[in-house]
Amino acid sequence: MASADYDVVIIGGGIVGLSTAMRLTQLCPGRGIAVVDKEKELATHQSGHNSGVIHSGIYYRPGSRKAEFCVTGGKLLTRFCDENGISYDRCGKIILATREEELPRLEELHRRGNENGVEGLEMLGPGELREIEPNAEGVRALHSPNTGIIDFIQVARTYGDKFRQAGGDTITDTRVQGIDRVGDSLRLRTNHSPINTRHIINCAGLHADRVARMMGVSPGVKIVPFRGEYYVLRPESRHKIKGLIYPVPDPAMPFLGVHFTRTIHGIVEAGPNAVLATSREGYTKTKFSLGDTLDTFTYGGFWKMSRRFWKVGIGETHRSYMKSVFVKDLQRLMPSIESRDVEPGGSGVRAQAVDSTGRLLDDFHIEEGGGAVHVLNAPSPGATASLAIGNHVAGLAAKSFGYVN
Ligand SMILES: Cc1cc2nc3c(=O)[nH]c(=O)nc-3n(C[C@H](O)[C@H](O)[C@H](O)COP(=O)(O)OP(=O)(O)OC[C@H]3O[C@@H](n4cnc5c(N)ncnc54)[C@H](O)[C@@H]3O)c2cc1C
Repeated sequence: MASADYDVVIIGGGIVGLSTAMRLTQLCPGRGIAVVDKEKELATHQSGHNSGVIHSGIYYRPGSRKAEFCVTGGKLLTRFCDENGISYDRCGKIILATREEELPRLEELHRRGNENGVEGLEMLGPGELREIEPNAEGVRALHSPNTGIIDFIQVARTYGDKFRQAGGDTITDTRVQGIDRVGDSLRLRTNHSPINTRHIINCAGLHADRVARMMGVSPGVKIVPFRGEYYVLRPESRHKIKGLIYPVPDPAMPFLGVHFTRTIHGIVEAGPNAVLATSREGYTKTKFSLGDTLDTFTYGGFWKMSRRFWKVGIGETHRSYMKSVFVKDLQRLMPSIESRDVEPGGSGVRAQAVDSTGRLLDDFHIEEGGGAVHVLNAPSPGATASLAIGNHVAGLAAKSFGYVN
């Protein structure tokens, strides 16, 4: 029988894995806990490729985990930043209705936001809108003054520092390739030496379904990667955007629509779109992984999803290749933006769980059992909500593993 190196190994050193690790050291002092990540640095995937927005909690269905964890997580996050010298800026955000038909949906967002406990929401007419965003044009806007911007890489790596200070280990450059049960323990096969542990928390983001399957768990979902591509405003055009400007989202889609985001580093981004990626870490159009593509295309749930969203998919792909189409969408929010104002920026890949009926899972999805907890869907606002998710997952794990009552 293998003796365990650790009590708990958390697979995935993104913002969710690191927040969970930090909380677990508080709940179970004295336990051997490690975070394992396949990359040389922590927070290199979704946690390092996002819009950097501290969401306030407007969009999410009241009563959902997203609504609860976003609102409580956002408050925990800013407190954590205040205590640890991490800068953030409550620059505020507007959601802009540009056509009369969008007004009922905007009203619904206002109602939802209030029900979710988002503070300070206010409807603006065109005059008030111009005071906040002089270059935006619309019939009405919902203003969220407390929405903020932050560097989530800095946040995640600070969680990692706290975790190590509390006695945890972070093991980077180590890819988990298989998991075997050996007596009471689990043996993680990696590209280096094996690691033995009693329990596992799976926070593997874009690979979370695969890690679950390594444990013999059939997760009931598959991760389908959606790349989000950004343009950036040229420095001389950045003054046009004061904070964050979003469209009224399509309720049928889990993504928010292309928007303008001022980052904490002073750049202004436009995007992200949502195109199917041919690699789970496909940050460019040309990145292709045969395994990842086969994984998507052999999944029945993907084809059921495609039957419902094929038009949206074609539209997104068309816009991805045609700058003029992307700019046209931005002009709906700000007519004075022109093609010469923007140039290609970075991208991120969203880990979107899709179930076998083709439904895109909207809420955070976490399963436990067999000595493990699996975080199977942690899309946006997962970074904002990271401390709330981490508290929840660590609490669940500590109970499920028998470390607390
Ligand atoms: C384009 C985009 C924009 C977004 N914008 C926002 C935003 O503005 N605000 C917000 O709150 N949220 C936003 N999000 C969502 C947010 O980034 C995610 O919810 C969050 O980063 C998820 O963190 P994670 O730790 O679950 O995943 P990740 O950060 O992807 O971490 C998973 C980790 O697991 C590791 N891993 C995977 N497989 C293995 C293996 N086999 N062995 C070892 N390690 C492994 C990976 O290397 C990775 O580091 C955005 C996401 C995207 C993609």
